[in-house]
Amino acid sequence: MTQKRIIVLTGAGVSAESGISTFRDSGGLWEKFDVSEVATPQAWAKNQALVLEFYNQRRKQLYEVEPNKAHYALVALEEKYDVHIITQNIDDLHERAGSKNVMHLHGELKKVRSSVDENLVYDLDGWELKKGETCEKGSQLRPHIVWFGEAVPMIPFAAELCATADIFLIIGTSLNVYPAAGLVAYRPPRCMVYLIDPADVAISHIPGIKIIRQKAGKGTSDLVKELLNNA
Ligand code: NAD
Repeated sequence: MTQKRIIVLTGAGVSAESGISTFRDSGGLWEKFDVSEVATPQAWAKNQALVLEFYNQRRKQLYEVEPNKAHYALVALEEKYDVHIITQNIDDLHERAGSKNVMHLHGELKKVRSSVDENLVYDLDGWELKKGETCEKGSQLRPHIVWFGEAVPMIPFAAELCATADIFLIIGTSLNVYPAAGLVAYRPPRCMVYLIDPADVAISHIPGIKIIRQKAGKGTSDLVKELLNNA
């Protein structure tokens, strides 16, 4: 029998219990940094050193944290389902937990790319990208991140995947960042949708959604147990 397909859209909340701050919660990154000064093409044009430092700090922290119960529960889900994770996160905690299919919509912290040719992408050794480190065409390397105001090249592939979902899980995202927040609209009719998030996320555009108002660790573990029992 072919396995049912589960598409999982994750956001910063899935990594919160690993110790990585979300953007919008109180105490989140946006309270400490002005995002327009560090995560936009304009910021890069104005102050490369500041942008490099911001992402170097994020990358350094990533080496100090571990996947949590939510990441591992999604790996267990693969025992009985064809699971595809679409993440807005730039961390690698889904991969480190062992998830097989992970698509990063907004880039990856541990990769860097040429600032003149977006197809020249490299793995970075260690946490620090320095000014003066260049691609083979001689241009400064930049973080491999989709900044605010930039196109999201993976969106058409993600939308295609969402259209094949039997079940759709949304975990730890404020659904404030488009186009990622609109992906759920591509699900087929009759596809069951679950949202796990402790906050009151705006989901009036998703009729029939089942809301689990819990942190990702507990909410995901419980839901995965239920889905494995029902498979
Ligand atoms: P967001 O900060 O807008 O929203 C985070 C959501 O997580 C909120 O709805 C909050 O209620 C929820 N949350 C907080 N703690 C939680 C927990 N323990 N369990 C479950 N949910 C919890 O983040 P977003 O919607 O992902 O969008 C912000 C953008 O910031 C994304 O584009 C993402 O790339 C980027 N970002 C990535 C990381 C990361 O890679 N870990 C961290 C911060 C921001």
